[in-house]
Order: sequence, then C-alpha cells, then structure tokens
Amino acid sequence: MPALLELEAEYGKAKEDRAFKNELELLQSTYIGRPTSLYFAKRLTDHLDGAKIYLKREDLAHTGAHKINNAIGQVLLAKKMGKKRVIAETGAGQHGVATATGAALCGLECEIYMGSIDIKRQALNVFRMKLLGAKVNEVSIGSQTLKDAINESMRDWTTNVRTTHYVLGTVFGPHPFPSIVRDFQAVIGKEAKRQILKAEGRLPDYLIACVGGGSNAMGLFNEFLSDDIKMIGVEAGGKGIEGGEHAARFAGGSIGVLQGCKTYLLQDNDGNVLETHSVSAGLDYASVGPQHAFFKDSGRIEYTYAVDAEALAAFELLSRTEGIIPALESAHAIAEVAKLAPRLPKDKIIIVNLSGRGDKDVQQVAKIKGIEIC
Ligand SMILES: *Cc1c(COP(=O)(O)O)cnc(C)c1O
Repeated sequence: MPALLELEAEYGKAKEDRAFKNELELLQSTYIGRPTSLYFAKRLTDHLDGAKIYLKREDLAHTGAHKINNAIGQVLLAKKMGKKRVIAETGAGQHGVATATGAALCGLECEIYMGSIDIKRQALNVFRMKLLGAKVNEVSIGSQTLKDAINESMRDWTTNVRTTHYVLGTVFGPHPFPSIVRDFQAVIGKEAKRQILKAEGRLPDYLIACVGGGSNAMGLFNEFLSDDIKMIGVEAGGKGIEGGEHAARFAGGSIGVLQGCKTYLLQDNDGNVLETHSVSAGLDYASVGPQHAFFKDSGRIEYTYAVDAEALAAFELLSRTEGIIPALESAHAIAEVAKLAPRLPKDKIIIVNLSGRGDKDVQQVAKIKGIEIC
C-alpha cells in the first residue's frame, strides 16, 4: 500500500505539472512519432462492401505498437519521482522491449521479469531487451509465464520501492495503475477524434479494438465515452469457447480478484486461475483490466471475440488489401470489422485501432501455414 499511495500522490502532481506534460509531448512527437495517422482503408472498405473503415495506425509508432505510449509516460514519471531504476513484467516481450527502450532513452537502470517458458518462446525479444541495456530476470516458478512475471515484479517493487518504479504494461493491477496507463494511452483517442472530424466532419459510428489487458482499447475509447458511438472490444477466442482453450474473459470467465484488482477472469470453481490459449501472445491472459469489467457490466462497451482462424484470415486480408501486415493481436479487431462492416450501410464509419505491426508475427504465421522460411 505505501508504494501505491506514493505513486498515486506523485502521479497526481505530475498530471498537473506543465513541465512534465511538455516533456512528454515533445517525446511523443519527436521520439514516438505522434500523431500516428488515421488512414482511410479504401481497398478494405471496397472489399467488404459496407461501412467506411479507418485504421488508427499505432503500428507506425516507435517499436511498432501502442505500448511505447505508456512506457515512455511511466519512465518519465519514474524520473520525475527521482527513481533510478525501473522494472517491468513481460509475456511475449513487447512490453519489456518498450520499457527497456524508455529506460535507455532516460538513462535509467532496467530489469525485466519474464517467465522461463516465455523466454524460450520469445528469444528474439529477450535479445532486443539486452541490446537496449536491460537485465532479463527469468521467473521459473508457477506457470512460468506472464502471471508469475507480474507477481515477481510486484515482489521486487515492494522490496525496492525507494529506488524503483514498476512500469506496469496495461490497464491492469491495483489502482492507480489502470488510471495511469489509460491516461498515457488516451492520446490515441484524442488524436483519432481530431483526425476523423477533419476527414469526415463528424464522429464515427463504431470504434473497434482488441482487448488483452485492455490498454490500446481504453486508449482509443476513453475520449469517446460520452459520445453516442458504439464501442466493441475483441478478445481472443482461441480454439473456441467450448473447449476452454481461449482467453475470452467476458465470454467464458467470471468475477474474481487477481493481482490487485476485481475484474473478470478465467478461473475454476475453487478460484484457481486457468490456463489460456491464443494464437496471439499479447491477448493470451486469464484476466482483463477492471475498467473493461466496469464498462461490460454498465453496457457502455460491447465485448466479443475472434477465434484463431478468424484472426489469421484477417491478418492475410489486411496484408493483401492494404499492404499493411497487422500484429496478430490487431488482427482480432480486423476480424470483427470483417464481420460487421458488410452488415452496415455505406455511410457508416468505423475506426479500428491497429495496435501494432505484424513483423513480429510473420515467422509464427509461416509455421502455422506449414511454410519454412529459415
Ligand atoms: C500487448 C499488445 C496488445 C494487447 O494489450 P492491450 O493492453 O490489450 O492493448 C495488443 N496489440 C499489440 C500489438 C500488443 O503488443
């Protein structure tokens, strides 16, 4: 609690601090490459023959995904709080790379916690983190994946809070993390609103984003919450809900408490956290940010899922129609667009968040297709 209370107080101050905001805005534009473009996907729109589809191009941000928005914000916050060291959890390695990038940029010491199984699966990202000057700590207890990496990060943070800030990677965990991450990602929706008003002279009818922990979705949705717009979050349906091999917390989970928040999670009758499956590592988690649980229950945001096969088809669809290879996570959102757009009249507008680029996923997709590339 002392660590969380200090963070809440310090973040409250930083939020109102002009110098902090100026430094963040300068790095957003000169380092991350913001604003990212809002792109009218004409060939995808023509192909689906329905609503107009715009892509919010977070894949064009430095390091290839939206995660850098949060990592840079929190690393600046750590510096402002006088912390010399940052730590982070990572599953597939994307957040670890983003945090190591931010730490290198600000000259902070950086340690990343990662499960043994993930270290083996994601050797390339482990090497990236090391290139960026981070130390990667192997977590060999429990399921040896993301859940255990989060536990170990929290343990480290509570021991070393005087010198260390914990850069949590999504809108998850105990307060104030979900609020902090939402605020740093909200730049996505703020830009998208300005950009669509300029392009179309009006707000869109639908917003669509994939939901792992939920940060790219909250980042897009937050600015539009009080507007009359439908919002759809897309979870990973894996091999389908019935067999239990999925990460669709809203379709297949129930309310519980995990790692500092009350939210929906995949658990058995005794409250043990269940194993998950998704073709996309970034969506493959048993729990989801508590803000999404709130908006699910209030009915403000609708949640659905795409199964592996639908995401893989969408991965190829966007590549061929637009020359944009999406991250497999983002492909789940595209899969929902492919279902929805043809059912809508042509004067409706959809904005879909393209949370990341697919370069990191091409080897895996080749393997699934049975193609040897190296
Ligand atoms: C990590 C990741 C996600 C899932 O995380 P959220 O917090 O739900 O946004 C989605 N897309 C990409 C490209 C990612 O790297």
